[in-house]
Amino acid sequence: MDKNQITVTSPLLPPLEEFTEYLKDIWESKWITNNGHYHQLLEKALCEYLGVEYISLFTNGTLPLITALQALRVTGEVITTPYSFVATTHSIWWNGIKPVFVDVDPQTGNLDPDKIEAAITPKTTAIMPVHVYGNPCDTDRIQHIADKYGLKVIYDAAHAFGVKRDGVSILQAGDISTLSFHATKTYNTIEGGALICHDKKMKERIDYLKNFGFAGETEVVAPGINSKMDEVRAAYGLLNLKYVDFAISARKSIAIKYREKLKGVEGISYFEDMDGVTHNYSYFPIFIDAHKYGFTRDELYLKMKGNNILSRRYFYPLISEFSTYRGLESATPQNLPVAYTMANSVICLPLHHGLASNDIERILELIIK
Ligand SMILES: *Cc1c(COP(=O)(O)O)cnc(C)c1O
Repeated sequence: MDKNQITVTSPLLPPLEEFTEYLKDIWESKWITNNGHYHQLLEKALCEYLGVEYISLFTNGTLPLITALQALRVTGEVITTPYSFVATTHSIWWNGIKPVFVDVDPQTGNLDPDKIEAAITPKTTAIMPVHVYGNPCDTDRIQHIADKYGLKVIYDAAHAFGVKRDGVSILQAGDISTLSFHATKTYNTIEGGALICHDKKMKERIDYLKNFGFAGETEVVAPGINSKMDEVRAAYGLLNLKYVDFAISARKSIAIKYREKLKGVEGISYFEDMDGVTHNYSYFPIFIDAHKYGFTRDELYLKMKGNNILSRRYFYPLISEFSTYRGLESATPQNLPVAYTMANSVICLPLHHGLASNDIERILELIIK
């Protein structure tokens, strides 16, 4: 890799010496997967860190979404957002369910509660919102709608590790929330993920489903999948949990710097922190109004790229624009005007714990000029 290259993110890695100690322990025990020592420790540590009661670890952040829909026996149609990473909608498709796209709120980028009810049909059984960039959804209003129509709510909380509102984990909302621990996320286990639910019986069922449906040595209760996290990654995750607060505070300082310097730059907008919310600063999206800024989003994106700064256009194109989904009635630009506007104007700036202050200066100089 070019030393001058600035990437959008960089993985948080635990110190190698600490990790090798854990590896020796795993080698000695010869218990390398299937709910081992480190797996149990990590579940417990994450419950404490996140402020939730029941968590199940997974091999990635997509399988808990697929498993959540199975566990809640969701069928028919699911209302979801097009402004997300493609795995959100894929999980619905993998269950043979029809995704129904609803537009987003420009204040947060999240599913707009005002537009959900109009999309409900007799076939609707659930809502799958995303806390995009870690901005909490309007969980009260979504729950109110879900209760009124008897729907389940599954939050894709892949961006919302550690996010709290009024001191309460955002993962407490809905029936189930899921996390991704992919290398690019705020907290990673290289690949990995988790499912958060709110009662013991549900966790038990989730743990069957992620282990082929086994409910004992000889009994299989469902066509479950294999999505168990192994001991090596659980140990890595346990170590990384010690450093995640440092990573989040480093991200926060960078976000503050970006906001300070971009304030008042004509044609550029960004999100402010929300009242009462503990953010995790997982992304720093800016939105370009080409008319006012003088350059289009793509012109700025390419200019940065030409200068070895690799920003990303999350989330462009919209999920509803991909070939698998663009034929759906709900996938039209007329149905999703806000999502289209956001997707066509967004750039996520580099943001990670290792970003140096002269890198930040270089990025800002290019944007502000
Ligand atoms: C990263 C991500 C996922 C998928 O997680 P993986 O761990 O990569 O499988 C799902 N939803 C959203 C919104 C994501 O950003």
